[in-house]
Amino acid sequence: MEASCQCGNLTATIDDSAEPMTVMCHCIECQKRTGSPFGVMAYFPDASVSVGGEAREYARPTDEGNSFTTGFCPTCGSTLYGRASKYPGITGVTVGAIADPNFPAPARSVYEQSRHRWLALPEALPGFARGRDGEQTR
Ligand SMILES: [Zn+2]
Ligand SMILES: [Zn+2]
Repeated sequence: MEASCQCGNLTATIDDSAEPMTVMCHCIECQKRTGSPFGVMAYFPDASVSVGGEAREYARPTDEGNSFTTGFCPTCGSTLYGRASKYPGITGVTVGAIADPNFPAPARSVYEQSRHRWLALPEALPGFARGRDGEQTR
């Protein structure tokens, strides 16, 4: 499986045998990162993802005192991957960059406290006001 940025210079190759753990996030940082009302990343073991091409990285503090680093293409600006210091050993790949409408649905939806109110989500998709350790909203 291959993910790529808009211009194609930054890619991520994902082992086909790797099982994604996909998270939809409505936090303000993900909204600003993507330019969309939410972000969706599929997480894999680091060893299952190889990044090719030139990336720039941006690290931001999280509200829990950790950091979240995203890698983006310096030419077209697409975010392609992310790594959370809280969860070492796993790499997130932006699901939009995988560009497969058949990609499996997220396992959970987080930071629903800032979810855009028009966005309806399936009852079967667990939702959380903030992180998965906190208050469950659905
Ligand atoms: Zn690019
Ligand atoms: Zn987020």
